[in-house]
Amino acid sequence: MIDRCGRNIDYLRISVTDRCNLRCIYCMPEQVRLVDRTCILQEEELLRVARAMAELGICKIKITGGEPLVRPGMPSLIHGLKEIPGIQKVTMTTNGVLLKDQMADLAEAGLDGLNVSLDALDETCYERIAGKKYLQDTLNGIREALKYPEISLKINCVPLGIPEQDLCDVAELARDSRIHVRFIEMMPIGQGKAFCGVAEEEVKNLLERRFGRLIPYRGERLGNGPCHYYTVENFAGNIGFISAVSHKFCSECNRIRLTSQGYLKTCLQYTTGRDLRRILRSGGTDEELKKTILEALAEKPEGHAFLEKAPEDETEKLCMSQIGG
Ligand code: SAM
Ligand code: SF4
Repeated sequence: MIDRCGRNIDYLRISVTDRCNLRCIYCMPEQVRLVDRTCILQEEELLRVARAMAELGICKIKITGGEPLVRPGMPSLIHGLKEIPGIQKVTMTTNGVLLKDQMADLAEAGLDGLNVSLDALDETCYERIAGKKYLQDTLNGIREALKYPEISLKINCVPLGIPEQDLCDVAELARDSRIHVRFIEMMPIGQGKAFCGVAEEEVKNLLERRFGRLIPYRGERLGNGPCHYYTVENFAGNIGFISAVSHKFCSECNRIRLTSQGYLKTCLQYTTGRDLRRILRSGGTDEELKKTILEALAEKPEGHAFLEKAPEDETEKLCMSQIGG
């Protein structure tokens, strides 16, 4: 699908739930209002949207949440998505807490890649950021995932700009195993607005002081999106940066998002999009579904305005756990 700015949209992020077993302070407020369960799309509805999307040119799908592994049935969904003609890759982003016990089934279902979000390796700091004492569960999940070399593994870390978060510790995960560690700049969405975050250059300087020069990676493409990677001497994996604020990449944006309630969002920062659940649940045809998806795409904003003042009435009020990141 080519949008009005000439961008090829081939990547869909599907949020399967707004529930989560963590409460990361920059993502999900304690008092968040959860969506009524009846509003959350069922597996068959998700597959129907994915089939329509695949016919329009989507070939890569990321399953997200909330926390996708708190929703039962992920292997079945992955299996169903992988069967859709045109879908080449199905990946998932998770906090890893429930990963250890589900890893074998996810692999069996055909999962192609995993991103595990992990912001700290220190117990106290992890708990301060994630709101729960589940560091060991996340680490066990990562260890389990490493047993499946056919599934690519990345760690996502959001620098908050708080002194106790040791970013070098997290980066070191890429030293001994084939894990790529990516630093994601804090975006001013939902709870994220309360944090200043840390810009890419600052993180890069910090890592270089500890590990030596970060050399731009020139190997084969490592993912679906805007992450740029560096190699570090003696590191098995690479270090990546996703810097939506300091290195705005909207002109290359290839993605759209489906919330757990079936709202198709065409840009993270704006509410612009279409309600697909209404079509799914009111007897709409596949043609109608596809027409609506294309209408939404025709209005996909040119880019975010994180550093400027965006039009208030169209600015997203949801928090990231309700969108899926
Ligand atoms: N629970 C899963 C996880 O943590 O990977 C999936 C959902 S979570 C919303 C997806 C990603 O969004 C996580 O890597 C999280 O760190 C990131 N995220 C949440 N709020 C953010 C913000 N304000 N700025 C940048 N990234 C954010
Ligand atoms: Fe949950 Fe992921 Fe948000 Fe943390 S970042 S609260 S794990 S949805």
